[in-house]
Order: sequence, then structure tokens, then C-alpha cells
Amino acid sequence: MRLLITGGAGFIGSSVVRKAISRGYEVINFDALTYAGCLDNLKSIENSSFYNFVKGDICDRAEVRSIFHKYQPNRVLHLAAESHVDRSIDGPGAFVQTNIVGTYNLLEEARDYWFSIGKDTNFRFHHISTDEVFGSLGVDGFFTENSKYEPNNPYSASKASSDHLVRAWGETFGLPIVITNCSNNYGPFQFPEKLIPVVILNALSRKSIPVYGTGENIRDWLYVEDHAEALLTVLEKGRTSRTYNIGGLNEVKNIDLVKMVCGKLDVICPDNRPYEDLIEFVGDRPGHDKRYAIDATRIREELGWSPSVTLEEGLELTVKWYVENQGWLDALHSRNGVGQRIGLNA
Ligand code: NAD
Repeated sequence: MRLLITGGAGFIGSSVVRKAISRGYEVINFDALTYAGCLDNLKSIENSSFYNFVKGDICDRAEVRSIFHKYQPNRVLHLAAESHVDRSIDGPGAFVQTNIVGTYNLLEEARDYWFSIGKDTNFRFHHISTDEVFGSLGVDGFFTENSKYEPNNPYSASKASSDHLVRAWGETFGLPIVITNCSNNYGPFQFPEKLIPVVILNALSRKSIPVYGTGENIRDWLYVEDHAEALLTVLEKGRTSRTYNIGGLNEVKNIDLVKMVCGKLDVICPDNRPYEDLIEFVGDRPGHDKRYAIDATRIREELGWSPSVTLEEGLELTVKWYVENQGWLDALHSRNGVGQRIGLNA
């Protein structure tokens, strides 16, 4: 199979690219290399004969068109996006452009290309999305594939819009599509503006560790390699015109998660005082969803996927990776937003 992977230089995309290459798939990584894209994430496979990199923007329709016709992929895995909620509060425009207009461009060019190859039944457009499109849960219940869309911030609203476009291109034009909605990811190569790498980075620099509000918000965490495995499982066995929820059954309050990470650091990099002493509660994120939790029964029962590591194991792997890969972090230090509190302009 030849996979066109958009956003393959990002956190999740690079994990999918590495895994796809190890499975013997040919990959075309199409990525604009925004602040969040990093080719160092792909050093382990960059010389593979199965790997092609094209720097390009999904908002540039002509560029997208030429990629389809040059590489003739039979699968699209669409991960390119603006992905940080806090940035979407400070500047929603980029989210509308990339996540909505960019997805529209990709769908139109995919449709055109698919027509040109005689509507090949082996073709598939797989859109990678988030559970945040479903809004916020109360104390009980889980998001299922039938949950109502109720996005509360510009990021989740732009992802919800792109989900709707993908669904419509399937229903209206018959494009073979599949959508996956996943919970919060963590693991190696995550840009240090998201919670877990910020905690590790700040703790190692003995800076305060910012926790939004009272830290009571609940997220369902999934190790990134497990997400990548789920995406390839859907690619290989999933049905078209279907959505699959992906989650780790690892619900935890943000404050407890931060303390778990600090606990791992206490063991791996002992200091003369516990790292959790650095925790500082800061102003809450506007529109901060209270709780996310995924019911992943469908993907487990239909496709046989389930997470391979527990949260404890995944956090240990993650903390060790960041401690051992300071060079990767140092290379990112000059970039805008690293370790900073943003998203308060609202
Ligand atoms: P990321 O921010 O780490 O990476 C995004 C990648 O997309 C970067 O390499 C960037 O250069 C590229 N990109 C951005 N704009 C582009 C454009 N206009 N054209 C081409 N490339 C562009 O994001 P991530 O955390 O790896 O998330 C990947 C996908 O998974 C996103 O669609 C996100 O919505 C979804 N998702 C993320 C999570 C999570 O917890 N991180 C959870 C569920 C779903």
C-alpha cells in the first residue's frame, strides 16, 4: 500500500510514519513543517527506500493536486492540523484555514483523483480527529460513536467542522472515508506546549509547573504508539463510512496526572526535593471542558485493537525518553511557545 500521510512530521503523524514503514508500507509524508513539525522525529526512518518527504501546505490546492497525481496513493491518512487548544484561543484564524479549508482542499483533490482512477474500491480517505468534538462530559458516561457534536473551543470546533466535511464527501460523493476520534495522546516527540512535556521540561529546569484552574479536569490518556497502532488497524481492517472512537480507559484528573509525572521524575532524576513542590495553579483555560472519556468498544470488538501499555508504563517510557533526549528539546527551545502559558487573550 502507498500511504499519503499529512502532518507526518508532527507528534502523532511521525509515530504513524515510523510504524507504517516498519510494516513495509510506502509512505509519502506531506507536511508544511509549521512550528509543530520536526523532521528530527523521523531520523530513524529517513533513509528508508519506502519513505518520501514532501514539504507542502494542505491549504495550497495545486500542491495537493500534484502530490495525488505524482504518487498515486491508495490510502490517505489526514493528520495535518493546528492542534493546540490554547493557540486556537489566541488566534483561531489558522485553525479555520488549516483544519477546515485545508481538509476541504484535500477532500476535493482526493475526490478528483479517485474519479480519475475509476473510483478504485481499494482507495480510502482516513480522517484523524479528536474526542474534543463531543464537548464535555458530566461525572458519568462515555463518548460513543453516536455522541452528539458539541465543540466548545475554536480547535474542537474546527475539527468538528472537518469531521462533517469528510462525512459529507462520503455521503454525497461516495468517497470511501473513515473517521477516528481519539482521546488525549502522550509520549515521545510531543511538542513541549502540551501538558505532559511541559511538566517534564519545567520540572527538569526547576521552573514552576503550571496547572490550569484547580486541576480537576479529567482526560482519558492514550500512549501515542497505541494510537498509531489503532490507526493502522483501522487502515487494514476498518470499514468505510464508519467512525471509530479510540481511547485508553485511563481517566485521570490533571492534577493527579501531573503528580504521577513528578513521581516518575523523582525516581528517574532524583533531586533534593520532590518535583511536585514546583506545581503552581494558574488561571483556567477559557471554555475548559470538564471531562472526556472514550468508549472504545467498537474498535476493540470489531477490529481487535486495545492499548498495549497502562498509563503507569506509558508515563515511565515517556519521562525516560524526554530525560534521555535533551538534545531534541534543546533544538526546539528557540521556537515560539515552548513551555509557555498561552491562550489567555480571551
Ligand atoms: P502536531 O501539532 O504535533 O502536528 C501537526 C503536524 O501537521 C505538524 O507536523 C505540522 O507541521 C503539520 N501541519 C500543520 N499545518 C499544516 C498544513 N497547513 N499543511 C501541511 N501540514 C501541516 O499534532 P498532533 O498532536 O500530532 O495531532 C495530529 C492529528 O491528530 C491532528 O489532526 C489532531 O487534531 C489529531 N489528534 C490529536 C490528539 C492529541 O492528543 N495530540 C488527540 C486526538 C486527535
